[in-house]
Amino acid sequence: MARIAFVGLGNMGGPMAQNLVKAGHDVHGYDISLDAVGKLVSAGGTAAGMPGAAAADAEIVVTMLPSGAEVRETYLGPDGIVEKAKPGTLLIDSSTIDVETAREVSAAAEARGLLMVDAPVSGGVGGAQAATLTFMVGGADEAFEKAKPILAAMGKTIVHAGGPGTGQAAKICNNMILGISMIAVSEAFVLAEKLGLDAQKLFDISSKSSGQCWSMTAYCPVPGPVPTSPANRDYQAGFTAAMMLKDLKLSQEAAKAAGARTPLGAGASAIYEHYVDSGEGGRDFSGIIRFLRGE
Ligand code: NAD
Repeated sequence: MARIAFVGLGNMGGPMAQNLVKAGHDVHGYDISLDAVGKLVSAGGTAAGMPGAAAADAEIVVTMLPSGAEVRETYLGPDGIVEKAKPGTLLIDSSTIDVETAREVSAAAEARGLLMVDAPVSGGVGGAQAATLTFMVGGADEAFEKAKPILAAMGKTIVHAGGPGTGQAAKICNNMILGISMIAVSEAFVLAEKLGLDAQKLFDISSKSSGQCWSMTAYCPVPGPVPTSPANRDYQAGFTAAMMLKDLKLSQEAAKAAGARTPLGAGASAIYEHYVDSGEGGRDFSGIIRFLRGE
């Protein structure tokens, strides 16, 4: 079993670190929130000093931070992980961040003889708790092979997407599809309402027709057809609209930098921005249907 430094013990990182403890690893956790560290300690982990110091004593470092800014600071800042970790240490960043920062941190790590993968996740807090996350992994073969058993303690599906940054690329492409498709499905239900077509009837037909997609059949934005979807509990978040907006913005930054045309991605980003600005950022992203109705 490995000695693991885990940085960022929030809604996702907290349960992920606890699953590493359950798998028998010696987990040393750090977070700017003492409350978050306390939860890990209650679950059998150890409180760490600073990320760099924790990394210096670890074989593996996992980070689960809000955005690229915190990832950059934690890895590349003075006394950061890249400076302090011993050569050969494996670094796993599971935060959702921009491709550019992921590649920059990975290159800096490689230059110091460290192994690194970007390994963002899909599956939400429920997946983090149940250790059923999907990991999209970017990095060299050697780093991926070493990361696999660690990721397997926190998730169910682990896909090697390619070289550094491709895990983040997969994550933002996937979530761009999701943002666009949730708006598409919501628009269809709103139009159906106006045309006097019952929502359940549209579901029965479209879920078996060419309009079928995950936003319709697993996460339906109207109450009724899919009892587990957030629409049935007043759009209480699984995945917040603010997080969807963050990922759509990342997709648009990446599209701009790479010269890819993504007009629907741009439209989805603008629509979620209006929704979040209306004060609904903490609501589930499927609540976008209310915004489209003009509620
Ligand atoms: P969160 O805000 O609950 O947790 C982030 C944690 O990082 C907090 O505990 C915070 O105190 C800590 N933190 C912030 N800055 C820090 C620093 N400089 N050093 C140490 N700790 C610091 O967020 P989350 O929901 O756990 O999301 C984490 C990442 O996972 C994000 O990149 C998010 O986009 C991604 N993600 C989230 C979900 C989800 O459903 N919540 C799903 C997939 C991916």
